[in-house]
Amino acid sequence: MHDVDDAMVRPELIALDWTARERVREQIAAKGGYCECCGAREFDGGAALYLGFLFLDEDHDAYMVALTCRNRECAKPRTGIVLSEKDFLDGERLSRGENASPAPASPR
Ligand SMILES: [Zn+2]
Repeated sequence: MHDVDDAMVRPELIALDWTARERVREQIAAKGGYCECCGAREFDGGAALYLGFLFLDEDHDAYMVALTCRNRECAKPRTGIVLSEKDFLDGERLSRGENASPAPASPR
């Protein structure tokens, strides 16, 4: 098991499971993302914060995913990336949280 590591965990954050973390890493690789501080390309994905209803200029399914640079020497290891829900989450997973985000009604 992977313990959530510190006190930065807040109820509005969505913890990412292993699959979601892998998908975040794939997205970073696909976008050619790298650490602005040290240039490393390896990140640990942490938690996601739903942005869609907070910022009108974001897509309604946008999330900010917290990332930690894997370079132990990095001076500013904490960063984040904005991803769409479909880029890293399965829709089913969202509804498991106690405070599920208000999702737009979509017919199945
Ligand atoms: Zn770095």
